[in-house]
Amino acid sequence: MPFKIETLQQFYTLMEGTKKAREKCVQQYLQNQSISSELITSLTEALEALEAIPQKEGKYSLLLSKTKTIFLDLSYEIGELKKDLLYLKHSPKTFYEYLSSIHSQFANQVQEGEKVLKGISWGNFITDRDGTINNYCGRYKSSIQSIYNSIFLTSFAQKCADHSVILTSAPLDKGGLVDISINPEQVFIYAGSKGREYLDSKGKRNQLSINKEEKNKLKTLNTMLTNLIAQPQYELFSLIGSGLQFKFGQTTISRQDIYHSIPAEESALFFEKVNNIVNEIDPEKEFFRLEDTGLDIEILLTMKRGERSKAFDKGDGVSFLNQELQLGLEKGPNLICGDTKSDVSMVAASMEKTPNTWGVFVTKDPSLQQEVKKICPQSLFVSEPDVLISILNNLSN
Ligand SMILES: [Mg+2]
Repeated sequence: MPFKIETLQQFYTLMEGTKKAREKCVQQYLQNQSISSELITSLTEALEALEAIPQKEGKYSLLLSKTKTIFLDLSYEIGELKKDLLYLKHSPKTFYEYLSSIHSQFANQVQEGEKVLKGISWGNFITDRDGTINNYCGRYKSSIQSIYNSIFLTSFAQKCADHSVILTSAPLDKGGLVDISINPEQVFIYAGSKGREYLDSKGKRNQLSINKEEKNKLKTLNTMLTNLIAQPQYELFSLIGSGLQFKFGQTTISRQDIYHSIPAEESALFFEKVNNIVNEIDPEKEFFRLEDTGLDIEILLTMKRGERSKAFDKGDGVSFLNQELQLGLEKGPNLICGDTKSDVSMVAASMEKTPNTWGVFVTKDPSLQQEVKKICPQSLFVSEPDVLISILNNLSN
């Protein structure tokens, strides 16, 4: 049944459908079954429906309401579906040739990575998601994990590491990490909100504690922001970029996306609106700290732990999980992967426990590479998430 995608809501519904189909494909693949033809058909139709959305200057136009249109870059959604269909229908060799045709240096970097990491049996594999093991997408909600990605990562996690952790700053669920992941159960520990909340490999959920007063403040903030974006003129901000995300101890609301789909003035006005709400709830600035990246507005509970008050980082998340789940970080060897400055703290947390740590970063930025090398001599750099996951896949074979 070919369908037509006209609204942003229809687009999200379609993408959610691909999540379910992809999950089933991964299950069948890992159980050595042949992939059912209905699943391939449904993914093919999803791709056709996306490609049929009207375009203007390379961007896809979708209706936000009867009168408002938004133009989106859908290269992630379309590109990953294409790759998945190619992966399911052709040999691994053909698939690698395709990756090699879209990423320069692919073959060399995979070969080099395999050479240096070969034969290590990892105690822990701890990794960031977006930009590290998953290609970047402009919208969190539609950044559904692709089939080949899940199969590569699952093979590595099952065969080469005792514990595998995906640690992200996005929330764990309710529009978070688990909602866009398609890996089979009991393979990964999922950690959201920089590690402050997690789902262990048996599916048990847990989190750091925050006090009642802080909880209430955060609840008020989230209610007011929910009401704000329920107004038709602000609804857009919940549908672009990170959208509205309720994280543990932190709330994120987008005011712009990486494609700059929102006019600057409209974005600035929205920022003022949000800022006013925060000031109203917390006039003395006792509870919240507001950070504006230009794309996202992050409203964070200030964590007062003992004497020092410091923002919780991903390194704190790694240490928290190590305690909670007895990961045995002290013993190693630990493979820590990231792609931005905020991931360096994860490498530092592991190095504090043992020099038996490898830092693998997806970055072309020389200063970030230097920063990683300085704290972790055993390090490796690749240019694309597809390179990293292909290395991991090869190590598991
Ligand atoms: Mg990242």
